[in-house]
Amino acid sequence: MDIKNALKIFKHTLIILWNSSKSSFILLFIFSMLSGLPAIFNAYLGKQLIDTIVNIIQNRNMVITPLITIGVMYLAVYLIENLIVSITQYVNEIYSSYINKYISIELLEALNSMEMEDVENTKIHNELEKANNESTIRSMNILNQLIQLLKNSTTLLGMITMLLSFNILIVIILIFSTIPLIMLNYKNMNKLYEVYNKRFEKVRFATYIRSLSVETENFKEIKIFNNLRYLKSIILNILNKNIREDKRIKRVLIVKSFIIESIDIIISFVIKGYIIIKGILHYNSVGKITMNIKIVTNIKDSLGNILSIASSMYEDCLYLQGLNNIKQIKNKREQQNKGKIYLGEKDTISRIELINVSFKYPGSNEYVLKDINICFKKGVTYSLVGLNGSGKTTLVKLILGLYAPQEGKILINGIEINEYDKISLFKKMSVVFQDYVKYPLTIRENIGLGDISKVNDINSIVESAKLTGAHKFIHKLPNEYEETLRKGWKDNIDLSEGQWQKIAISRATLRKCEILVLDEPTSSLDPESEYEIFNTIKSFRGNGINILITHRFTNISLADIIIVLEDGLVKEKGTHKELLEENGVYSKLYNIQQEMLLNPQKLVSDQSI
Ligand code: ADP
Repeated sequence: MDIKNALKIFKHTLIILWNSSKSSFILLFIFSMLSGLPAIFNAYLGKQLIDTIVNIIQNRNMVITPLITIGVMYLAVYLIENLIVSITQYVNEIYSSYINKYISIELLEALNSMEMEDVENTKIHNELEKANNESTIRSMNILNQLIQLLKNSTTLLGMITMLLSFNILIVIILIFSTIPLIMLNYKNMNKLYEVYNKRFEKVRFATYIRSLSVETENFKEIKIFNNLRYLKSIILNILNKNIREDKRIKRVLIVKSFIIESIDIIISFVIKGYIIIKGILHYNSVGKITMNIKIVTNIKDSLGNILSIASSMYEDCLYLQGLNNIKQIKNKREQQNKGKIYLGEKDTISRIELINVSFKYPGSNEYVLKDINICFKKGVTYSLVGLNGSGKTTLVKLILGLYAPQEGKILINGIEINEYDKISLFKKMSVVFQDYVKYPLTIRENIGLGDISKVNDINSIVESAKLTGAHKFIHKLPNEYEETLRKGWKDNIDLSEGQWQKIAISRATLRKCEILVLDEPTSSLDPESEYEIFNTIKSFRGNGINILITHRFTNISLADIIIVLEDGLVKEKGTHKELLEENGVYSKLYNIQQEMLLNPQKLVSDQSI
């Protein structure tokens, strides 16, 4: 990354810092500047103290007043410095919390405006992880460095002003001798960031495997199969490779830094020698000579500090690029969503048409859906049937507007789906995916999140839970709807998979939607419960579009229309009766299942239907 880009990100970081808390920013700015002043006063007071002592010794005249005055001034400077440090620390700590809050909001909002293809894109996902892992800590680093930068700049300016009266050339040499270090640091930072970027995905993978191993729900399987050793070897492979690479890279960097820093030490050594000799030749006081040496040391220290601060800031800016990139995607998506058709509460969806739709996942060359032509109508319950991998879930993802087809059109009420405002469209839809979310929250919230406006509306939540039969087990729990779910958190309980599925379906039915999609959400339920749920949903949602995916054919006759998919193609379409008469794929799959039910010993390997 070039300096221009780093400056741009630095500007964005300043905006983050400013927006997080304006008052903290201003306070911190003022106190950081003030914290640089004590060093200047101390240099001057040091000179006065030494000269006074030398004077007393030379004249053998013990005058106490000047000593007391200097002592009091010293003490005052130290006390004020301490006060400034304490206030700065307080403001800084409070400010950190504001920054953390601000970045969390920024990240979640950016995520909210993203599309599936953004989140599934590896590059963007890496950026998202980087932003998630690094943004807060890096912004806080920049904040702390900013404080140090201001402090050191104040000291540096004061010291340079004092030294200018002694010798301009020394000031120029001191400043210019820092340039090689600046260049070296700049190169080092870029190199380290390049390495970080190169290995980010691998490190992310290792971290993921590690967190997967500590997840409570994975523990049992990993334990039984004794897989930890294998997982450990995957992690160690990555970490060891990085350690070897680190050693190689850091050795080179350290040698270069050592050489340049040694040259720098020699230069300041020579300058100090020059100051002593010149001071002696001009009969300067001991205090003045000591002060000038101290000023050179201070200037060198401040320059060194400013340099390392600037390098760290540059480094932090590099890492903050993730957040910046994410925000750019958010802006792009917001722009795209402007001027789209907004579906109000009174607007209803009467039909969804897929016309010659073909689709492949971003980054893949394989078409998962091919030339699909279907029309889903209001008031009809559809069932999607087909072997695993035939494209059922992908089809519903397209209907829900999560992906756009590469070929063909999807029309909602005759208008292309991408002409609609996504948020208003999503409000009309509800879904239970196979991998639905199990929130570590209360049952009330787990259901209530289907419609956030009802998260505290216990009557609606209970009504929804009754619909799916979830109420029967919930009301037996000690805290009923206030029971917090998921193991691994304090005082939490966990549910069986079937109970979780009922909670997830209750969540989906809480939302008064127009399109309801259930993607095999009943796989862990017995056929009777599944029948009960499907039947209730069908009768209470007579007005909407219902799409059910189930691999059990026992309850499939509940669907008005059955669509059979095979290898991404629509093979058959019609009522249960029609399809049986057609004697095609559906009738074959149906007969196999019936046979399996009547004659379980003949459990055919084809359970996946
Ligand atoms: P079904 O629901 O019928 O089991 P899916 O729609 O889930 O089938 O999958 C259809 C095909 O698409 C499969 O070959 C699967 O590997 C592929 N697929 C599913 N999800 C993704 C994805 N996010 N990225 C790439 N390929 C995918």
